[in-house]
Amino acid sequence: MSGGCKDTPVLKERGQREVFCGLTGIIWLHRKMQDAFFLVVGSRTCAHLLQSAAGVMIFAEPRFGTAILEEKDLAGMDDANTELDREVARLLERRPDIRQLFLVGSCPSEVIKLDLARAAQRLSAAHGPAVRVLNYSGSGIETTFTEGEDACLASMVPALQETQAKELLLVGALPDVVEDQALALLAQIGIAPVRCLPAKRAALDAAIGPNTQFALTQPFLGETHAALIRRGAQHISAPFPFGAEGTTLWLKAGAAAFGIGPEKGDQVVAAPRARAEKAIAAAAQTLRGKSIFFMPDSQLEMPLARFLTRECGMRAVEIGTPYLHADLHGPELDLIAAGPTISEGQDVDLQLDRVRAARPDLTVCGLGLANPLEAEGLSTKWAIELVFTPIHFYEQAGDLAALFARPLRRRALLRGQHPNMLEAAE
Ligand code: SF4
Repeated sequence: MSGGCKDTPVLKERGQREVFCGLTGIIWLHRKMQDAFFLVVGSRTCAHLLQSAAGVMIFAEPRFGTAILEEKDLAGMDDANTELDREVARLLERRPDIRQLFLVGSCPSEVIKLDLARAAQRLSAAHGPAVRVLNYSGSGIETTFTEGEDACLASMVPALQETQAKELLLVGALPDVVEDQALALLAQIGIAPVRCLPAKRAALDAAIGPNTQFALTQPFLGETHAALIRRGAQHISAPFPFGAEGTTLWLKAGAAAFGIGPEKGDQVVAAPRARAEKAIAAAAQTLRGKSIFFMPDSQLEMPLARFLTRECGMRAVEIGTPYLHADLHGPELDLIAAGPTISEGQDVDLQLDRVRAARPDLTVCGLGLANPLEAEGLSTKWAIELVFTPIHFYEQAGDLAALFARPLRRRALLRGQHPNMLEAAE
């Protein structure tokens, strides 16, 4: 499609960044994978981050924990591997329900160069086949918080069985209710069989091979995409299933990959699409004509900018993303009308200068930046909230638009204005 942002020169910045680390992903992954355990090999800081991000949930049997590296480990005075083996043996003895154990690296484990890949091999040999031990990094060094899920799923791909069957693999951890909606739509269109990565239980894991077609549900799964391509699977390239338009295009791309014509898709999606459009229209009354600035954080920026500009009438000033992945984000850039600055990476002070110069109606950013910007009279939306809230597919499209309308309504109320009159009054 001409007129999109695909040919817009990308502003690349490499400077100080303000993001959470990949350990955050454990909060949603442990809910999804019901027989997995995430053992962070890290410091007390890592343990605190996890506990506060999890809202200090007190489970009888939590599915994540931290093996704390003490000072003597960090100083190389003790063998952290011996301690880790002991911790894992204790854990698996106490928790025979665990089928997959993820050793999750952190900044401290990376700094002391603790080889968790070797540890995972050693522990798999000791505790397999009942328990599969994998490893990935959730470290905050040069990463952003959604990379934790990407690294986790990518670590699973080499361990999946081989198949020659033609199957659709749905990739990305969705809340169960949203995943069920997606599976129901795909079944109605006639796409089968469909498997999910991650599966709810290790025994349900997909097998993959050259006839696997995979569709990503999250735009931050670049490493997983690469790992699946290495296994010979084929990516169904499409916009992501956010909003009525994105969901429709995503479903139709899936149908086409399975030789199903667009008429069948049109017929199945007509009613839920109409419902979504109606729900979006209600929130769009507040959003229409407003400007939005995305700071790079969740990696959801491109598809959300596409949704907000095309379906809610917003105007994007700058769309920043930590990483711009041509295969994943290309279909989104094709659809976003030329005009906004497209930026990759961050130099936070320079970017804040641009926010202050543009004074957008809404800035999507991390928690650490939101309060200072609010104090300067700018409305903000926390990027991390978008990952913790169900926002995919038709039934959530209205909620997704409403998430962006809420801060604008709040500010309008504080100013004693009608929310839809905000721009006119300014
Ligand atoms: S992994 Fe690094 S950034 Fe994340 S909590 Fe631990 S020390 Fe902090």
